[in-house]
Amino acid sequence: MTRHVLVIGAGGIGCPAIAVLQRAGVERITVLDPDTVSVENLHRQILFGDRDLGRGKADVVADRYGVEAHAVRLDAANGARWIEGKSCVIDGTDNFADKYKINELCLRADVPLVHAAGAQFRGQVLTVTRGGPCLRCLLPEPPDAATDECRSTGVFGPAVGVVAALAAAEALRVMGGDRANRGLFLVDLARGRIRRAALEAVPGCGCAGALTRP
Ligand SMILES: [Zn+2]
Repeated sequence: MTRHVLVIGAGGIGCPAIAVLQRAGVERITVLDPDTVSVENLHRQILFGDRDLGRGKADVVADRYGVEAHAVRLDAANGARWIEGKSCVIDGTDNFADKYKINELCLRADVPLVHAAGAQFRGQVLTVTRGGPCLRCLLPEPPDAATDECRSTGVFGPAVGVVAALAAAEALRVMGGDRANRGLFLVDLARGRIRRAALEAVPGCGCAGALTRP
Protein backbone atom coordinates (compact mmCIF):
# COMPACT_ATOMS: atom_id res chain seq x y z
CA MET A 1 0.00 0.00 0.00
CA THR A 2 1.27 3.45 -0.84
CA ARG A 3 2.12 5.44 2.25
CA HIS A 4 1.26 9.10 1.84
CA VAL A 5 2.40 11.47 4.60
CA LEU A 6 1.30 15.09 4.91
CA VAL A 7 3.94 17.24 6.64
CA ILE A 8 2.49 20.57 7.78
CA GLY A 9 5.30 23.07 8.19
CA ALA A 10 8.79 22.77 6.68
CA GLY A 11 10.51 24.17 9.76
CA GLY A 12 12.81 22.83 12.45
CA ILE A 13 10.62 19.74 12.86
CA GLY A 14 9.36 19.35 9.31
CA CYS A 15 12.76 19.53 7.60
CA PRO A 16 14.50 16.65 9.43
CA ALA A 17 11.26 14.62 9.42
CA ILE A 18 10.93 14.99 5.64
CA ALA A 19 14.56 13.89 5.17
CA VAL A 20 14.11 10.83 7.41
CA LEU A 21 10.83 9.76 5.79
CA GLN A 22 12.19 10.19 2.29
CA ARG A 23 15.24 8.07 3.08
CA ALA A 24 13.02 5.50 4.77
CA GLY A 25 11.33 4.97 1.41
CA VAL A 26 7.95 6.53 2.14
CA GLU A 27 6.30 6.52 -1.25
CA ARG A 28 4.62 9.90 -1.17
CA ILE A 29 5.22 13.02 0.93
CA THR A 30 3.20 16.24 0.63
CA VAL A 31 4.49 19.37 2.36
CA LEU A 32 2.56 22.55 3.18
CA ASP A 33 4.39 25.74 4.13
CA PRO A 34 3.55 29.30 3.06
CA ASP A 35 6.74 30.89 4.43
CA THR A 36 10.06 31.92 2.93
CA VAL A 37 13.53 30.93 4.14
CA SER A 38 15.12 33.42 6.52
CA VAL A 39 18.57 33.46 8.05
CA GLU A 40 17.42 32.60 11.57
CA ASN A 41 15.89 29.37 10.21
CA LEU A 42 19.11 27.90 8.90
CA HIS A 43 20.58 26.42 12.07
CA ARG A 44 17.69 24.00 12.45
CA GLN A 45 15.91 23.84 9.10
CA ILE A 46 18.36 21.46 7.49
CA LEU A 47 16.84 21.33 4.02
CA PHE A 48 17.80 24.98 3.41
CA GLY A 49 21.06 26.86 2.93
CA ASP A 50 22.35 30.38 2.32
CA ARG A 51 21.44 30.27 -1.35
CA ASP A 52 17.77 29.75 -0.43
CA LEU A 53 17.35 32.93 1.61
CA GLY A 54 14.17 34.71 0.52
CA ARG A 55 12.86 31.77 -1.50
CA GLY A 56 9.62 30.04 -0.71
CA LYS A 57 10.21 26.95 1.41
CA ALA A 58 7.74 24.96 -0.69
CA ASP A 59 9.65 25.86 -3.87
CA VAL A 60 12.99 24.75 -2.43
CA VAL A 61 11.61 21.49 -1.05
CA ALA A 62 9.96 20.69 -4.38
CA ASP A 63 12.90 21.71 -6.59
CA ARG A 64 15.75 20.19 -4.66
CA TYR A 65 14.19 17.20 -2.92
CA GLY A 66 11.53 16.20 -5.41
CA VAL A 67 8.79 16.31 -2.78
CA GLU A 68 5.30 17.59 -3.56
CA ALA A 69 5.11 20.92 -1.75
CA HIS A 70 2.64 23.80 -1.69
CA ALA A 71 2.90 27.35 -0.37
CA VAL A 72 -0.32 26.90 1.52
CA ARG A 73 -1.34 27.68 5.07
CA LEU A 74 -3.73 25.04 6.28
CA ASP A 75 -6.93 26.49 7.72
CA ALA A 76 -10.41 25.42 8.72
CA ALA A 77 -11.69 25.95 5.16
CA ASN A 78 -9.07 23.97 3.26
CA GLY A 79 -7.86 21.60 6.00
CA ALA A 80 -10.11 18.62 5.37
CA ARG A 81 -9.14 18.53 1.71
CA TRP A 82 -5.44 18.25 2.54
CA ILE A 83 -5.82 15.76 5.38
CA GLU A 84 -8.41 13.30 4.12
CA GLY A 85 -7.00 10.17 2.56
CA LYS A 86 -3.48 10.56 3.96
CA SER A 87 -1.77 7.66 5.76
CA CYS A 88 -0.46 10.00 8.44
CA VAL A 89 -0.06 13.71 9.22
CA ILE A 90 2.98 15.22 10.92
CA ASP A 91 2.20 18.54 12.54
CA GLY A 92 5.37 20.61 12.50
CA THR A 93 3.67 23.99 12.78
CA ASP A 94 5.01 26.54 15.24
CA ASN A 95 1.85 27.76 16.96
CA PHE A 96 -0.86 26.18 19.01
CA ALA A 97 -3.79 27.73 17.14
CA ASP A 98 -2.83 25.65 14.09
CA LYS A 99 -2.05 22.62 16.22
CA TYR A 100 -5.55 22.49 17.74
CA LYS A 101 -7.11 22.91 14.31
CA ILE A 102 -5.03 20.05 12.91
CA ASN A 103 -5.86 17.87 15.94
CA GLU A 104 -9.60 18.27 15.31
CA LEU A 105 -9.34 17.79 11.53
CA CYS A 106 -7.29 14.58 11.85
CA LEU A 107 -9.68 13.09 14.42
CA ARG A 108 -12.63 13.95 12.21
CA ALA A 109 -10.97 12.39 9.16
CA ASP A 110 -9.65 9.39 11.16
CA VAL A 111 -6.12 10.06 9.92
CA PRO A 112 -3.32 9.34 12.43
CA LEU A 113 -1.61 12.53 13.59
CA VAL A 114 1.87 12.91 14.98
CA HIS A 115 1.83 16.14 16.98
CA ALA A 116 5.32 17.55 17.46
CA ALA A 117 6.45 20.77 19.10
CA GLY A 118 9.68 22.23 20.37
CA ALA A 119 11.06 25.43 21.89
CA GLN A 120 14.33 26.26 23.62
CA PHE A 121 15.81 22.93 24.82
CA ARG A 122 12.54 21.05 25.10
CA GLY A 123 10.02 19.34 22.90
CA GLN A 124 7.19 16.86 22.81
CA VAL A 125 5.70 14.27 20.50
CA LEU A 126 2.22 12.79 20.78
CA THR A 127 0.69 10.36 18.34
CA VAL A 128 -3.07 10.88 18.07
CA THR A 129 -5.36 8.21 16.70
CA ARG A 130 -9.09 7.64 16.91
CA GLY A 131 -10.05 7.01 20.54
CA GLY A 132 -7.30 9.30 21.82
CA PRO A 133 -5.56 10.60 23.73
CA CYS A 134 -5.29 13.80 21.71
CA LEU A 135 -3.77 17.26 22.06
CA ARG A 136 -6.85 18.50 23.97
CA CYS A 137 -6.48 15.67 26.49
CA LEU A 138 -2.95 16.94 27.12
CA LEU A 139 -3.79 20.66 27.09
CA PRO A 140 -7.53 21.43 27.22
CA GLU A 141 -6.84 25.05 26.27
CA PRO A 142 -4.02 26.48 24.12
CA PRO A 143 -1.11 27.90 26.12
CA ASP A 144 -0.75 31.66 26.31
CA ALA A 145 0.03 32.80 22.76
CA ALA A 146 3.01 34.81 24.00
CA THR A 147 4.77 31.66 25.19
CA ASP A 148 4.21 29.32 22.29
CA GLU A 149 5.99 30.98 19.39
CA CYS A 150 9.43 29.69 18.41
CA ARG A 151 10.38 33.19 17.40
CA SER A 152 9.82 34.62 20.85
CA THR A 153 11.45 31.82 22.84
CA GLY A 154 14.29 30.64 20.58
CA VAL A 155 15.07 27.08 19.55
CA PHE A 156 18.12 24.90 20.24
CA GLY A 157 18.57 23.15 16.89
CA PRO A 158 19.41 19.67 18.22
CA ALA A 159 16.29 19.66 20.43
CA VAL A 160 13.93 19.99 17.47
CA GLY A 161 16.16 17.52 15.58
CA VAL A 162 15.47 14.90 18.25
CA VAL A 163 11.76 15.77 18.25
CA ALA A 164 11.69 15.46 14.43
CA ALA A 165 13.37 12.05 14.49
CA LEU A 166 10.89 10.81 17.11
CA ALA A 167 8.01 12.18 15.05
CA ALA A 168 9.27 10.42 11.91
CA ALA A 169 9.67 7.17 13.87
CA GLU A 170 6.11 7.47 15.17
CA ALA A 171 4.80 8.16 11.65
CA LEU A 172 6.54 5.02 10.37
CA ARG A 173 5.12 3.04 13.30
CA VAL A 174 1.49 4.04 12.75
CA MET A 175 1.78 3.55 8.98
CA GLY A 176 3.07 0.07 9.74
CA GLY A 177 -0.27 -0.61 11.43
CA ASP A 178 0.61 -0.11 15.11
CA ARG A 179 -1.74 2.53 16.50
CA ALA A 180 -1.27 1.72 20.18
CA ASN A 181 -1.20 4.58 22.67
CA ARG A 182 2.41 5.19 23.62
CA GLY A 183 1.67 8.35 25.57
CA LEU A 184 3.70 11.52 25.38
CA PHE A 185 7.39 11.72 24.49
CA LEU A 186 9.16 14.51 26.34
CA VAL A 187 12.57 15.75 25.25
CA ASP A 188 14.63 18.01 27.53
CA LEU A 189 18.17 18.51 26.31
CA ALA A 190 18.94 21.06 29.02
CA ARG A 191 18.73 18.10 31.41
CA GLY A 192 19.93 15.51 28.89
CA ARG A 193 16.66 13.62 29.23
CA ILE A 194 14.15 11.92 26.96
CA ARG A 195 11.24 10.21 28.62
CA ARG A 196 7.76 8.96 27.95
CA ALA A 197 4.76 9.89 30.10
CA ALA A 198 1.54 7.89 30.17
CA LEU A 199 -1.45 9.80 28.82
CA GLU A 200 -5.02 8.55 28.57
CA ALA A 201 -8.01 9.96 26.69
CA VAL A 202 -10.00 12.31 28.90
CA PRO A 203 -13.65 11.22 29.20
CA GLY A 204 -15.82 13.74 27.39
CA CYS A 205 -13.05 14.86 25.04
CA GLY A 206 -13.99 14.60 21.37
CA CYS A 207 -11.29 12.05 20.74
CA ALA A 208 -12.61 9.69 23.42
CA GLY A 209 -16.07 9.98 21.86
CA ALA A 210 -14.60 9.06 18.50
CA LEU A 211 -14.04 5.57 19.89
CA THR A 212 -17.76 4.85 20.00
CA ARG A 213 -18.80 6.69 16.86
CA PRO A 214 -19.45 4.43 13.90
ZN1 LIG B 1 -8.71 14.20 23.45
